[in-house]
Amino acid sequence: MTSATKSYEDVVATYEPVIGLETHVELGTNTKMFCGCPTVFGAEPNTQVCPVCLGLPGSLPVANKAAIEATIRIGLALNCSIATWCRFARKNYFYPDMPKNFQISQYDEPLCVDGYLDVDVDGQTIRVGIERVHLEEDTGKTLHIGGATGRIHGATESLVDYNRAGIPLVEIVTKPVAGTGQLAPAVARAYVTELRDLLRTLDVSDVRMEQGSMRCDVNTSLNKPGEEWGTRTETKNVNSLRSVERAVRSEMLRQASVLDAGGSITQETRHFHEDTGDTTSGRSKETATDYRYFPEPDLVPLAPDPAWVETLKAALPETPRARRARLQQEWRVSDHDLQSIVNAGAVELIEATVAAGATPDAARKWWLGELARRANNDGVELSALAVTPADVAELQQLVDAGKLTDKLARQVLEGTLAGEGSPSAVMAARGVEVVSDTGALTAAVDEAIAANPDVAAKIREGKVAAAGVLVGAVMKATRGQADAKTVRDLIVSRLS
Ligand SMILES: [Zn+2]
Repeated sequence: MTSATKSYEDVVATYEPVIGLETHVELGTNTKMFCGCPTVFGAEPNTQVCPVCLGLPGSLPVANKAAIEATIRIGLALNCSIATWCRFARKNYFYPDMPKNFQISQYDEPLCVDGYLDVDVDGQTIRVGIERVHLEEDTGKTLHIGGATGRIHGATESLVDYNRAGIPLVEIVTKPVAGTGQLAPAVARAYVTELRDLLRTLDVSDVRMEQGSMRCDVNTSLNKPGEEWGTRTETKNVNSLRSVERAVRSEMLRQASVLDAGGSITQETRHFHEDTGDTTSGRSKETATDYRYFPEPDLVPLAPDPAWVETLKAALPETPRARRARLQQEWRVSDHDLQSIVNAGAVELIEATVAAGATPDAARKWWLGELARRANNDGVELSALAVTPADVAELQQLVDAGKLTDKLARQVLEGTLAGEGSPSAVMAARGVEVVSDTGALTAAVDEAIAANPDVAAKIREGKVAAAGVLVGAVMKATRGQADAKTVRDLIVSRLS
């Protein structure tokens, strides 16, 4: 491991980064790519297998139409051209989790090519070119038992689970992204975020990075301005959005220190370590010729009917980016405010709260204020809080109707978050409500005046600012359940 000798600012002042991303996405089809086995996550090992996905002699694959349809929809949403004729290919290599000793993939004839995805970073729109989108099958999973790290080193035994073998996998490869300078790590993260949201909108995968249904390999290289692109490394299986950004940054720092010392970068795969934020060397990278690709002889070519492709295109949902632009207009928020909403993961929550009857401003106030603070304190996503958009809309309606002050509303929200039920249920259970009965309030005001004759005298002389003391006394007497402004008005009118 080489430690960085330069600051990040110095690195980007000396070198220009070029990044590229390869993303694997497990499709959410009911059955595997080339057989009828189920694809449920977390089943007992080796219970979702058959002769085809175990690669037994004499078994023959049949392509899954739902997977092909999902891949074409992904390609269309990424502005790609869809091939009118293409083939699967065998990628030959040995690995224990791959029972056939080859993977059915696509090589020189991918299903979708030459598209793009626009991402917004720091107020700039950056167009990330898409080289290809192709369809393949996933491998099984090897579990190394007995070691401390879960890696093969130090393990006493290794077990293979073939449940994942043959699950349809889409690989999305970007073109090299150059010219982003110091934004490169943020661009990488923004791309993966946008892609994840797009795939979720298309409903083709559950895109859970932590469960491995979306996995990213990040290519990084550095070159000096005006020189050719440098040798790239590929950091494998980066499994969170934050790690995508950290992996690019860490690799930029490492490569710069190697280059500064007069060394050269080895083309290799590297592993990202979540705990240290560093990458370490994996294996030297195979080239395509090592895989001896050839067209898969057991499958007929794929020739999607252009009319079918047109139908799929016409039925594509609104993209997350177009949706954000529309909501920004509807909610009348600035670019900056919209970015805060996106960063907080609150777009859907606010949209649902507005649909439940709140104004956009009120919905935004709760989700980005009190609730964001709470989520931050608890270290969870906003969407994981025990409060629904309907609860938030109800809370605001209670405030608007004068039944809760802002302060009381926050107390009621605490109750909802603690699992005590909807805001109105919490109010009923805790006996919380604004004291709006003027008779009761007047009595409390008169008591406060009687108990503080000096203050009352000042107010009578026109020193209205002194009313704060009496307001405090009334709020205390009503356990905070009065509206401070109403109390104040009442005090002033009693003393004038
Ligand atoms: Zn099978």
